[in-house]
Amino acid sequence: MSLSRRQFARTGLGLAATSLLPWAAGCAGPRASAVSGSTVAPGVYRIRLGDTTITSISDGSAARPLDANFVRNASLAQVQQALKEAGLPTDQLTLTFSAFVVESGGRRVLMDSGNGQFGAATAGRVQANLRAAGIDPASIDAVLISHFHGDHINGLRNRDGALAYPKARIHVPAPEWNFWMDDARMAAAPENARGGFQGVRRVFGPIAASVQRFEPGRDPLPGISSIAAYGHTPGHTAFSLRAGGQTFVYLGDLTNIPALFVRNPDWAVAFDMDADLARQTRRRLLDAAVDGNWIVGAAHWPTPAIGRVVRRGNGYDLAMLR
Ligand SMILES: [Zn+2]
Repeated sequence: MSLSRRQFARTGLGLAATSLLPWAAGCAGPRASAVSGSTVAPGVYRIRLGDTTITSISDGSAARPLDANFVRNASLAQVQQALKEAGLPTDQLTLTFSAFVVESGGRRVLMDSGNGQFGAATAGRVQANLRAAGIDPASIDAVLISHFHGDHINGLRNRDGALAYPKARIHVPAPEWNFWMDDARMAAAPENARGGFQGVRRVFGPIAASVQRFEPGRDPLPGISSIAAYGHTPGHTAFSLRAGGQTFVYLGDLTNIPALFVRNPDWAVAFDMDADLARQTRRRLLDAAVDGNWIVGAAHWPTPAIGRVVRRGNGYDLAMLR
C-alpha cells in the first residue's frame, strides 16, 4: 500500500511520512524494514511474516464532538493544536476501531471483536470485513480479548444472543474478568459507571463457563504471548508473537487517537481508568516497541492501524507500513 502525502495528512500521520524518509533513503536511523503489506479490500490490510499472516480488520468509526473532557490533563487549545498539526479537524473527533486476525499453522485467531451490533451505525464492520478478507467468522478458532470495554467485546455475541464466532474459544485476561464480574464492585460503582459492568454481564454472563481466563504474562495460546498493560482498565493486556524474524504486538487501547496520545504519551484519554498507571504503561510499551523494532497494531489507530513506532521529541510517532 502506498499512502499519498494527502492521505497521511487525513489519517493524522502527516508527520510520520517525513520520519519514514531516512528509512527509505537507507540513512542512519531505525533499522529498515522489509515488511510490507497490501490492502485486500477497503478496511482490510494484510501482512505476511514468514508463515504467519496478520490481517487488520476495520470495525468502522464513530464521530464525536471534541469537548474539553476528552483529554483529562491537556487544555482544549493544546488538543486542538495537536489535531491541527496532524491535519485533522479541530471541532470533532473520529474514533476508529480495528481488530486483527493472526493465521498460522491452520489456526485463525481474532484479537478483539469490535462493537458488533451495539455501536454507532458507522461501526460494527468486523464481520463484513472478515468476509471481505476471505475469512468466514465460523472458521475463527480463538478470540483473544484485550479488555472489557464494549468496543472490544460487544462483537462476541449478536443482539439475539448468538455467538458471532461459534467455533471459537474465547480467552480473556483473568484480572479483567475478576474486576468486571465482581458483583460487590458493581453495586458500589456510581450509577453512571454501572453500564460498563452490565454490558460485560450481557456479553459474558450466559457463556461464563466456557470463557478461558489467562494470567497476563503467560501464553494464552501456543505461540502467542501476553503482556500486562494495565491502566486503561485494571486487566488491559497486549498480545505478541514472533514470526518471520519479526515481532508483532497488538497493543489494544494502549493509546487512543495517535495524533494525540502517541505524540503526547503523558496525556490521559477520558477512558483511561487509572490515568497514572496507563501513562507509565504507555511509555514502557512504546519504548519497547521502538527498541525492539516491533510491528504494532492497535484498536484505535487509523486504518490500517498497523506500523512501527519511532521516537519524536518528548513523545513518539507512527510510521505506518506500506
Ligand atoms: Zn477501545
